[in-house]
Amino acid sequence: MIKETLLTLSIATLAFTGCNHSEDAKPQEHAKVGHEKHWDYNQNGPTHWEEFSQTCGKGIHQSPVNIIPGKTLQMNHQYDLSMHDDITGLAKVIDNGHSIKVTPEHGGYIELHGEKFKLLQFHFHGKSEHTIDGKRFDMVAHMVHQNPKTKQLAVVAVFFVEGKSNSALEKIIDNVGGTVKLDPQDYVPLETAHYYHYIGSLTTPPCSENVQWYLLKKPQEASKAQIEHFRKFYVDNERPVQELHDRVIEAN
Ligand SMILES: [Zn+2]
Repeated sequence: MIKETLLTLSIATLAFTGCNHSEDAKPQEHAKVGHEKHWDYNQNGPTHWEEFSQTCGKGIHQSPVNIIPGKTLQMNHQYDLSMHDDITGLAKVIDNGHSIKVTPEHGGYIELHGEKFKLLQFHFHGKSEHTIDGKRFDMVAHMVHQNPKTKQLAVVAVFFVEGKSNSALEKIIDNVGGTVKLDPQDYVPLETAHYYHYIGSLTTPPCSENVQWYLLKKPQEASKAQIEHFRKFYVDNERPVQELHDRVIEAN
């Protein structure tokens, strides 16, 4: 009896570890110990996310979406983006089981329609989630900001294309599981005046809506080895594109 309990415990521990590392998740063990199911990009992938949050399946303002540049509208200047993420400080780098996530102790902020949205964290996807004319970029960083008053989220997406080695990315690669001094602005292109904007959702459960998306047009570069490094952790951690429904995408 004691033996059996110990065995169950060790399986539960294994299953829990599985939750944090999607590549070695073991769903059959989850079932065996009645462990709560966890979303991922495999057996519990995007087509099953409605089981974790109804919004993922029923929402009509979901992200990511495909952007057709010829069908965008001129940006409403009330929603122009200004970035103030230029603060050097300590940041935690973790592998959260879905992506590499960087959490600065004191990030900067962006300003939209006179409201400040503080940088909470940024993380990476092994290919871009949003597509432009159906094309995915080689990688993307999502910089997640929040308005402390209204709790609304605003995500700035920075696309990466294969090219020169990126020293800012190298800092993250070298410090997964640790703490590193960095400036979030180093992950953003120098030119941030041109972007696509629309209202969407989180691209992972709970897929909450009313998220302001800003997709910077100017991509950053990363070397082939760096991109491969991020994909070593996560192959295909991108949600498929969602229907636009009644939404319009603005651009400037
Ligand atoms: Zn993301």
